[in-house]
Amino acid sequence: MHEENCIFCKIIRGELPSQKVHEDEETLAFHDINPIAPVHVLVVPKRHIASVLELTETDAPLIGRIHRTIQRVAKELGVDESGFRVVTNTGAHGQQTVFHLHYHVIGGRQLTWTM
Ligand code: 5GP
Ligand code: ZN
Repeated sequence: MHEENCIFCKIIRGELPSQKVHEDEETLAFHDINPIAPVHVLVVPKRHIASVLELTETDAPLIGRIHRTIQRVAKELGVDESGFRVVTNTGAHGQQTVFHLHYHVIGGRQLTWTM
């Protein structure tokens, strides 16, 4: 999917609404539209990257920034002490449905291996 039609690029550009949790120059965090737990936030790079398979060595600082945003989200939504899960679905077997790299931050209840 190209950036023009990418749903998360549209959210980043402000063409589609979202409930933002955190934003900086490189990342955006917003509530998932169909949450599977009390806390379910998506952390995305602002630059269009289809999946983890597209990341390269030069993206190391961006990956670090994404993890800083994940920490902020966890603290802001109060799951830093109770715990949470970070998930990145990739490809068909991973059930990736949006082809813009995103990290699910899921918590607020006891999770099982199958969620
Ligand atoms: P995936 O299945 O690719 O790992 O995750 C895509 C996630 O994006 C799903 O959890 C889905 O609920 C969420 N999602 C899809 N469209 C939208 C949208 O327009 N807004 C928001 N906030 N989340 C969306
Ligand atoms: Zn995109």
